[in-house]
Amino acid sequence: MLRSALAFLVLALFGDPAGAADQLNVVATFSILGDLVTNVGGERVNVTALVAPNGDAHVYAPTPADSKKLAAAAIVFSNGLGFEGWIDRLVKASGTKAATVVASKGVKPRTEDDDHGKIDPHAWQSVANAKIYVGNIRDALIKADPPGKDAYDANAKAYLAKLDALETDVKKAIDSIPRERRKIITTHDAFGYFGATYGMEFIAPQGVSTDAEASARDIAKIITQIKRQKVPAVFLENVTDDRLLRQIAAESGAKIGGKVYSDALSDAGGLAATYIDMIRNNIRQFTAALVS
Ligand code: ZN
Repeated sequence: MLRSALAFLVLALFGDPAGAADQLNVVATFSILGDLVTNVGGERVNVTALVAPNGDAHVYAPTPADSKKLAAAAIVFSNGLGFEGWIDRLVKASGTKAATVVASKGVKPRTEDDDHGKIDPHAWQSVANAKIYVGNIRDALIKADPPGKDAYDANAKAYLAKLDALETDVKKAIDSIPRERRKIITTHDAFGYFGATYGMEFIAPQGVSTDAEASARDIAKIITQIKRQKVPAVFLENVTDDRLLRQIAAESGAKIGGKVYSDALSDAGGLAATYIDMIRNNIRQFTAALVS
């Protein structure tokens, strides 16, 4: 009794570090989006990301705990473009009254190059697109929490300036790579928007999702392509199994160019704990392997 009264007093005086009562509870479907929302929301917002760092959102199976998080949220942010095939059912099952916001709204969708014509969901890999996400996040937070307008506007403005600086560095990094070496293999096709925006060719045995395995024919085709086009390096991803790419590297003679982050951030202590660190890590890996 005394203990709970004390706990109440402490909470009342100092607030709950896990999410103060006056904070807006919001959910983001995955860690990269969670970081963008955190940067715009600042101290007014308590952000929960459903798919953990290094997790694969394509094949995620939501839990009953996720349902509770949605029920307690004022806004549910998703990427859209078919990334989270499970989100609509989860929203429905949770009975949440939250506003559902598709952060990629306004991005020009890219379709997969091959015959399937599937929409590529990985729009955040282009920093130019991430700026569109930030605008959508800001507008949604203001709508849900009008007294926070000045704070959200200021946070978004400061963060957009950081993204501008980041994008300048991305372009410089790509410029430093000889044109004929701007070719990269990754396990799944997650860098199409990056490639289209900044001028780099990405080739992947798996398509724009991780839900289907690459066929023996796809793998053989890529090995031939690496040899013919002299693709210098293959890159491991934090969300996919390394074995396929290690096999492709061994059979094609391409070198392994390190680990890149495609669909999820790293743990807090890792090389890609924020969106900005993720992009910086990836361009560092690309240039280290491709600048000769
Ligand atoms: Zn992906």
